[in-house]
Amino acid sequence: MKTPNSRPVVLCMSGHDPSGGAGLQADIEALLAQGCHAAPTVTALTVQDTVNVSDFRVLDRDWVLAQARAVIADMPVAAVKLGMLGSVEMVETVLEVMSQLPGVPLVCDPVLRAGGGGSLGKDDVGYAMRERLFAVSTIATPNLPEARILAELPQGSADECAEKLLPFIEHLLITGGHGDEAEVHNRLYCRDGSRHTFTCARLPGSYHGSGCTLASTLAGRLALGEELVSAVKSALDYTWRTLRDAEEPGHGQYVPRRLPLDFSQ
Ligand code: PLP
Repeated sequence: MKTPNSRPVVLCMSGHDPSGGAGLQADIEALLAQGCHAAPTVTALTVQDTVNVSDFRVLDRDWVLAQARAVIADMPVAAVKLGMLGSVEMVETVLEVMSQLPGVPLVCDPVLRAGGGGSLGKDDVGYAMRERLFAVSTIATPNLPEARILAELPQGSADECAEKLLPFIEHLLITGGHGDEAEVHNRLYCRDGSRHTFTCARLPGSYHGSGCTLASTLAGRLALGEELVSAVKSALDYTWRTLRDAEEPGHGQYVPRRLPLDFSQ
């Protein structure tokens, strides 16, 4: 039974990034900052730093299922966040997990590349997400390069990608950090025909774990009961602040500052 003082639990199914900038650590930090409890199920291990990824290994299906089932049997899961899945088989594994969580909001971050450009899964993984996972997802949060892969439109605009993808999913947030507009345009497309554009100032530099931060925050906001459009706006605003305050712990991309500097007082 959920005790009155326990925070909403968000089940995260993502990869581990040993640099701590992206992946499950990003999920945990972003969710803590929203007042949620993160339950991290590892889908894959990666070898990477803040510059790029050099290798990854997807965990066995049985191990992933066992992790998620242990959490589901023990805690009331209020939302699920998907990050790196790494293989088509993992897409099927997630579907099996979601069959045990009917009605629970699902935020799908279709991770296929690290910020440095290295692969975190073949394009087939993205197609399997589109064909199989989008139907059970509340929202997907691709950046424009990811949306182009998912829509199989290599030069497509956000609008063109959305038109191709909306038959598969109810809500689609295409982030504009990789776009060429002076301000960043983040576009939310809804199957009911409504659209919302959220603009923010473009920050200099490139960031490691920004997509993970956004998708986890959004899952956390939905877990807290926030309505979808408001939750998207809250998640974009929080993510922008983490980028504005980003640190440079390594030799590559900046890492979002998701938590206050000092918790010790
Ligand atoms: N998940 C894992 C495990 C990763 O290693 C990365 C990037 O390196 C990502 C997700 C995606 O990161 P970003 O939020 O920068 O798109």
